[in-house]
Amino acid sequence: MTVFRTRFAPSPTGYLHLGHAYAALTVFDTARQAGGTALLRIEDIDRTRCKQEFEQAIYDDLRWLGCDWPEPVRRQSDHISTCSVLDQLAAQGLIYRCFKTRREIAQDIARAPHHPGEGSGGVIYPGPATPMSPDEEAERLSKGAPFAWRLSITACREYLGERFDQLDFEETGQGAEGKTGRVRARPDSLGDVILGRKDMGTSYHLACTHDDALQRISHVIRGTDLFFATHLHRLLQELMGWSVPVYHHHPLIRDETGKRFAKRDRAITLRALRSAGFSPADLRARVGL
Ligand code: GLU
Repeated sequence: MTVFRTRFAPSPTGYLHLGHAYAALTVFDTARQAGGTALLRIEDIDRTRCKQEFEQAIYDDLRWLGCDWPEPVRRQSDHISTCSVLDQLAAQGLIYRCFKTRREIAQDIARAPHHPGEGSGGVIYPGPATPMSPDEEAERLSKGAPFAWRLSITACREYLGERFDQLDFEETGQGAEGKTGRVRARPDSLGDVILGRKDMGTSYHLACTHDDALQRISHVIRGTDLFFATHLHRLLQELMGWSVPVYHHHPLIRDETGKRFAKRDRAITLRALRSAGFSPADLRARVGL
């Protein structure tokens, strides 16, 4: 029998709001119903946006909601060791240093034959028309120029051969179009995604996929906003030989006007609702659980 192991993985960049309550309760309820375990993971690699105060609030708010998780909690900032993943991908020639400015990226996009432009995950960069020469790269590095590590979709396609077009994953939730079952992964639709920076040896995509494998997560339960990220995560799993969890993308909770809750909107936080006298049961009712 497979062990059911899932996780709730918030980033401490603000206080949790109703959208997080729905996401967390979905994760913890599903694990309980399956007789499995739900872990809590703190995704705090972006040190400029994450705050200790928000991390503490995550523990307090989730406990108040009735969530319970095994200790110790994995804090990604304590394990920036995923750099070795970047090293492995570099050794295989699957990532490259991109020194381009936003303007140069926009010019490359405009010149691309299919003009991919904007996607659900932000700007889709199709890669440079011609790779940078080793001499130019060495010169820029010697001058200390900043760069981003980008995954080369072209190199991945060559490396995996026909497996590249056969990548898929199991979706038990909504996916993008409400379809469940096997979903064909299309990582090429995201372009050459950034996987690290000169001064930061990892990114959300790398750290999250690495930790899901390391923590033996059997089921990833998260919002539909990350459905497209899953296509890239599936490719990383294939490149690194990591196991592939089942994915369940749940709908996002919206406010009365139909807008999704976001940290930046000063959406009603769980702590504000708690001090206004709402109970965890009231919140469950509000989010339809
Ligand atoms: N840390 C991510 C976020 O807060 C979620 C990652 C995930 O569930 O895969 O949006």
